[in-house]
Amino acid sequence: MTTLPLLDDLEADVTATGSTEPLTGPGLAGKATRGRPPRHLADLDTAARRAAVAELGFPAYRADQVSRHYFGRLSGDAAAMTDLPAAARETLGAALLPDLLTTVRDIACDDGTTRKTLWRAYDGVLFESVLMRYPDRVTMCVSSQAGCAMGCPFCATGQGGLKRNLSTAEIVEQVVAGARALAAGEVPGGPGRVSNIVFMGMGEPLANYQRVVAAVRRLTEPVPRGLGISARGVTVSTVGLVPAIAKLAAEKLPVTLAVSLHAPDDELRDTLVPINQRWPVDDVLAAAWDYAHSTGRRISIEYAMIAGVNDQPWRADLLARRLAGKLAHVNLIPLNPTPGSEWSASNTGAEREFVRRLRASGVSTTVRDTRGREIDGACGQLAAAEV
Ligand code: SAH
Ligand code: SF4
Repeated sequence: MTTLPLLDDLEADVTATGSTEPLTGPGLAGKATRGRPPRHLADLDTAARRAAVAELGFPAYRADQVSRHYFGRLSGDAAAMTDLPAAARETLGAALLPDLLTTVRDIACDDGTTRKTLWRAYDGVLFESVLMRYPDRVTMCVSSQAGCAMGCPFCATGQGGLKRNLSTAEIVEQVVAGARALAAGEVPGGPGRVSNIVFMGMGEPLANYQRVVAAVRRLTEPVPRGLGISARGVTVSTVGLVPAIAKLAAEKLPVTLAVSLHAPDDELRDTLVPINQRWPVDDVLAAAWDYAHSTGRRISIEYAMIAGVNDQPWRADLLARRLAGKLAHVNLIPLNPTPGSEWSASNTGAEREFVRRLRASGVSTTVRDTRGREIDGACGQLAAAEV
């Protein structure tokens, strides 16, 4: 199995940009300390788009026209928007459709049906997205932050710390780029559409709460307000920021919540997921069940299988007891070892026994496929295939 380093060799120039943006606190949106990405149409809701267009001296309906081009036809080129007066094209393009992302590298595997893109933003920060095409769906795994502040020791992203939050439009653009490639027939299997989105790339989505929620709205609202992807196809994965989970439940967006548990007991979870010291397993699961209750959506419990660390039969039993009778599904993820780490993925026997015990207790369980592993998933992580 080949692992092509994608970020490793570029980490040095990321650091050299010196762009850092500390979180103001877990679960809260970070505050830009060093400029911000240019404003883009996808950052704005309909009212704000109309206001922006009016400020430039154009009738508000021009905002809807540009929106239709961008979200409906996936066009980011104002010069080609021939239903706009020629004089308006340049002004509106410059004001609403700045180039936000540059492709640094595209890597494909699985005969081209899995494609990972490394992006560079306006300030040089790097992040990744992955497109995975299956016979019945296309899932895009997107980043919500450049880096991550949560410091989970098994995760490649966690090792580099947080560079900054991504803007709403930087998140949306990852999906639009994938949608464009599909529409243009660039992904084997003929022209297609994005059906699922998982926030399982770089970053902790709920630590960039407002921008992520705005991105979900943009992705799911119908054209011309947004891209029109079904909210039921969207999964937000969190390490367990309890207040933010409660807030998300109150948004009444029918998105799936994935909780990265990785251990059923606080003693181990404190080390695998350091934020557990602030919000322990009981609190995280209580917030998850409240979420399931208020949205009717099944919680996805993510569990990276690490040999000899969290894969003991007794932990399977404890996990099963904690999930018994709840609206939950367990996704076991074979660990994708990060460079230099002593940890490895559980062996097949341990994995099988873990699955057997969970299922025997009535807990629905699957092992995530290792799609994209040879291109190192998203930032050393495996993107979801089961959701
Ligand atoms: N920060 C969020 C979402 C991004 S990580 C979260 O942690 O949930 C997406 C998923 O990949 C999480 O379940 C995470 O625990 C998992 N993951 C991270 N590093 C991994 C690795 N080396 N091997 C397998 N899964 C990993
Ligand atoms: Fe951040 Fe998720 Fe990685 Fe933890 S697993 S460091 S929360 S991206």
